[in-house]
Amino acid sequence: MHLDFKKNVFVVLVAATVTASAFGVLRSTIPSIVAAALLDQAPNAGNGLQALAAMDPVDTHVHAFKSDPDFTTLIARLHLHLLDICVADRHLIYGDLTTELARANGFVHGSQGHAKLCITFDPFDFQQKDFAPKTIAKLRQQFADGVVAVKIWKNIGMELTKPDGSYVMPDDPVFGPIYNAIAAENKTLVAHVAEPSSSWQAPNPDSPDYDYYKENPQWYMYLHPDHPRKEVILAARDHLLAENPNLRVVGAHLGSMETDVDEIAKRFDRYPNFAVDTAARMEYLMIEPREKVRNFLIKYQDRVLYGTDLEFLSDETTAEALKDWQETYARDWKFLATDQTLDYKGRKIEGLNLPAPVLRRIFHDNAVRWIPGIVPSAK
Ligand SMILES: [Zn+2]
Repeated sequence: MHLDFKKNVFVVLVAATVTASAFGVLRSTIPSIVAAALLDQAPNAGNGLQALAAMDPVDTHVHAFKSDPDFTTLIARLHLHLLDICVADRHLIYGDLTTELARANGFVHGSQGHAKLCITFDPFDFQQKDFAPKTIAKLRQQFADGVVAVKIWKNIGMELTKPDGSYVMPDDPVFGPIYNAIAAENKTLVAHVAEPSSSWQAPNPDSPDYDYYKENPQWYMYLHPDHPRKEVILAARDHLLAENPNLRVVGAHLGSMETDVDEIAKRFDRYPNFAVDTAARMEYLMIEPREKVRNFLIKYQDRVLYGTDLEFLSDETTAEALKDWQETYARDWKFLATDQTLDYKGRKIEGLNLPAPVLRRIFHDNAVRWIPGIVPSAK
């Protein structure tokens, strides 16, 4: 077993870490030692990482664009599989698309089978001649190389415009042949469409996304009343779902219906080809009424995929990332799997204590079913 570290081993590892740091040697081995030690601590510290690892968890929403064997060690210890998602944006959050793709490929190839790639295409090319056939040819090539999903991003619906000034929506006919090709190849569309409702609302320090919009005013629609309303963008997304019944669509970030699980449930009832991931929206599930969220997750236990939106970027140290990733997994496990109390922005949140079979679906089974190929099948 990977996780059979004994307490004395932990002490030795901590001592080794301290010694190594003191002498400034073995720098690259320190994070993996720390990772092993943190994980080993789990039963005593109650951080749940061992229990999570026993689920063979899949995180279906990460952005990892840096390679480091110590990071791979952590992933292996957590029995974790990842969907590494590329984003095509004009604000270059992850660099230009070619660089981003090369880095993502580096991460996936170094992951020892623990990560798969979700690629994207640049929608800003939509007016180019042969946009669809060219895009499809490229996607097919990448599918042949092991890519399992394709992402569309919020710039469709919120940023991309036609010459007449109107906004290009996710159901625009220009994307139709691309969606058909993704479905025909049995791949999955990951759709980050629209934003949290707080993007359209006056600043509220209690909102989980308050800091994000302060730092990213270009996505703060309260400042841009001329841009499309959220309802209009989500209606276009729903139309996409209706028009493409054979296309599996995973709505990123709770499908941007983060404030009310009833809104998600309505779509699940209407569109059997639709699921959602929890990426960067666990806080919203924490602040909705506990019983309502719990009943929703039990009723729709085959439609919700665990995802985080965690990042591992080239300007970040491995030690920082390891800490961040483990803290997030420990927090999410505590919230979903236990009845312990969490603190969120001064509020006391009681864990959902979901039944084990439901957890197994959210953390593993749904990812395997909705994103075929994400976990290499046993030989
Ligand atoms: Zn993301």
